[in-house]
Amino acid sequence: MNLVFLGPPGAGKGTQATRLTERMKIPQLSTGDILRRAVAEGTDLGKKAKELMDAGKLVSDDIVNAIVELELMRPEAKGGFLLDGFPRTVPQAKALDEMMARRSMKIDHVISLEVPAEALVDRLAGRRSCPKCGTPYHVKSAPPRQPGICDKDNTPLVQRPDDQPDRVRQRLIEYESKTAPLNDYYKTKAVIRPIDGTKEPEAIQKQIVKALGV
Ligand code: AMP
Repeated sequence: MNLVFLGPPGAGKGTQATRLTERMKIPQLSTGDILRRAVAEGTDLGKKAKELMDAGKLVSDDIVNAIVELELMRPEAKGGFLLDGFPRTVPQAKALDEMMARRSMKIDHVISLEVPAEALVDRLAGRRSCPKCGTPYHVKSAPPRQPGICDKDNTPLVQRPDDQPDRVRQRLIEYESKTAPLNDYYKTKAVIRPIDGTKEPEAIQKQIVKALGV
């Protein structure tokens, strides 16, 4: 099954995507994680992306399209995948359609996590992640077993630079103007599954599993 996760920053895409891919045994392809790794490693890609990411702005379509094209070539992606954080613009969605058509594949479901704007700033402020393995946490809704420490590899958790309040505002502006129109784009293709993202993580996962029938 080939899946796309849509939703504003802070909707819980990463958390839900991780749970679902573990259940379905398919790779989670997160453009945000790939870009953050490139920034941490100081590669050419990382150098190009860092300033935009830190400012809460989107990286260019050409860069992320090329990343996804490479990810889809990985053998693990042949049996299905979950795209987390891509597409984020209508041109990216069109590029994805073309990538799929070239491989005689299609996107089976687009999960749209819906959370009202007021709740998002709070959620982002409490968000932490593991700088080593990328596992997402939230101080209230998805805390690690030991405060501030990753359950998987005992690394101290960090807050992303773009989760600071002024960057969060910029990311929400980017979302409204560039990403929200994707809901209409996918409605015309009848693959969109709206999910109430205001509930507890466990309840949200149940809704997703039910909507996909997995
Ligand atoms: P995320 O972890 O998905 O919130 O992504 C973090 C940041 O990476 C975003 O704010 C963008 O700067 C960049 N990014 C991730 N995915 C994309 C994408 N599909 N298009 C453009 N920029 C992206």
